[in-house]
Amino acid sequence: MRIRTLFLLLFSFVLISACTPREESTQEDFESLKTAFIDDLWELNPGWALAVGNYDYADRLTINNDEHREKRNQFLTNYRSKLDAINAGNLPPLEQIDYRLIDNYLQSQVWNRDEFRLESWDPSRYNVAGSVSRILNGRYAPLEERLSSLFRMLELVPEYYAASADVLGTPTRPHTELAVEQNRGTIGMLDGALRDSLAVLGNSDSGDGDVGQEWIGTFNERIDRAIAAVEEYIGMLNENWLEPDDARFRDFRIGSDLYQQKFQFDNVSWYGAEEVYRQAVRRKEELHQEMMERSAELWEEYHPDREMPGDLTRVQMVLDEIARNRVHRDSLVQAIKEQIPELETFVMENELLTLDPDKPLVVRETPEYMRGFSIASISAPGPYDSGGDTYYNVSPIDHMSDEEAASFLREYNNYTLQILNIHEAIPGHYTQLVYANKSPSIIKSILRNTAMIEGWAVYTEQMMLEEGYGDFKPELWLMYAKWHLRVVTNTILDYRIHNEEYRYSREEALDLLMNRAFQERAEAEGKWRRATLSQVQLTSYFTGYTEIWNLREEWKEQKGDDYDLREFHETFLSYGSSPVKYIRELMLE
Ligand code: ZN
Repeated sequence: MRIRTLFLLLFSFVLISACTPREESTQEDFESLKTAFIDDLWELNPGWALAVGNYDYADRLTINNDEHREKRNQFLTNYRSKLDAINAGNLPPLEQIDYRLIDNYLQSQVWNRDEFRLESWDPSRYNVAGSVSRILNGRYAPLEERLSSLFRMLELVPEYYAASADVLGTPTRPHTELAVEQNRGTIGMLDGALRDSLAVLGNSDSGDGDVGQEWIGTFNERIDRAIAAVEEYIGMLNENWLEPDDARFRDFRIGSDLYQQKFQFDNVSWYGAEEVYRQAVRRKEELHQEMMERSAELWEEYHPDREMPGDLTRVQMVLDEIARNRVHRDSLVQAIKEQIPELETFVMENELLTLDPDKPLVVRETPEYMRGFSIASISAPGPYDSGGDTYYNVSPIDHMSDEEAASFLREYNNYTLQILNIHEAIPGHYTQLVYANKSPSIIKSILRNTAMIEGWAVYTEQMMLEEGYGDFKPELWLMYAKWHLRVVTNTILDYRIHNEEYRYSREEALDLLMNRAFQERAEAEGKWRRATLSQVQLTSYFTGYTEIWNLREEWKEQKGDDYDLREFHETFLSYGSSPVKYIRELMLE
């Protein structure tokens, strides 16, 4: 007994010898705070839980009534006082980041409840489709078990939509139109995919257990009632808002005050919104200047004997020509596959980063159910299915007509494809993810900072070109400038739409995107719509990029002769998907 105690004492001494008893007890307190916080978070937000692969509350819906709001208030007060009781200074750096992420989350929730009040003006946030389809398509349990969850969830749907209608005050027009459109899709899914799955289960039934014909009958009745509830919600939005000629919608522009605040909660930047906006305007001028010079350099080759225009038409004319360098429609996926090893070799030979040879990136065709959003994406296992594979999804373009495919491949020409691969895969999103997983943290995974994640991918595009990827070919640089101009103008657009000073109109927005950023009309129109439905999100890419770029300059200065690019990258990535602001404080300490 005594020997055992001694052994345990020695053992724990070895474990904690790096910290003082006070630090150790702070860490223990924080550890249990985090565990309880995450459990309570999922109980309060079952839909969010499903989105990250936690199915503990799969049969629930958040019904926004007094009881729910009371629970939410308790959650916020409770964790505020628990967090305040912890001395963050006693925590190791990575834990300090978790602490600040929770802190920022709690503050943003209070702000959203009291100031921003999204739930009272965005009717599109009320929709059961996401949760239903996650359970229906989830591979976490057999169909019978998943349908049992849905059976219980469906019973709550009428109450869910009734409570949502009650909470709604004055909505904005774009969010109302979106709510009607998306909830129509929900009816289609309940009546289609859900009934189909139920029929599959009914046919395979052996006759015992839950799945009797009676159960299936009740299930179908619940689907009927759920559909009626969605129809009623859509009907209310149409009758009260979209049909009357004199409906007075809320302005979708959130105004400067809310914008500055949301910018801080979402991006967590050490710059203010206005400063980032000003940097974007400067960057746009720089890029235009550079594009004019490069297209002058390329003019004779692509437009021999033609007079060179003195304005941005020159850039457009050269871009049109170099976009002809593209792959055949059938070899898109293959072309991307072949580029990945080239990128890996370049990164390793130039000592930009250490890549883990045990984690090769698997390129695959995007699974059918995920297609339709973007040409390429990374599928990473969520925080609850670690051990799953990471894939680089590339969507084939078989379904496109020849004309559509030609237009698509003009956009994703051979130059753009290389930049896309840098951004999505190596050393962009995929590499960042591998580094983040070296010190897994559920808090960093669920409260991850988009500005850092997108900023890193955008940063690597330029860094790779500057290090000589593509041999400084002017065509690649020109195409890169067009690509980069997109994140720059996204920032300008978002800021000018939402801030009173500008109140950008649709025409002004389309002019900026089409005539100053060389975008096609369809892309520009889609961007306008996205900017009326979201706020700040469009600035995250450029914000993170600017922060990383400037942090590198500061770090370089601090290191002097010892500056090493690889060391900068690896140190930066070692903090996981955390706000650049927090990483900066720890790196420059
Ligand atoms: Zn990205």
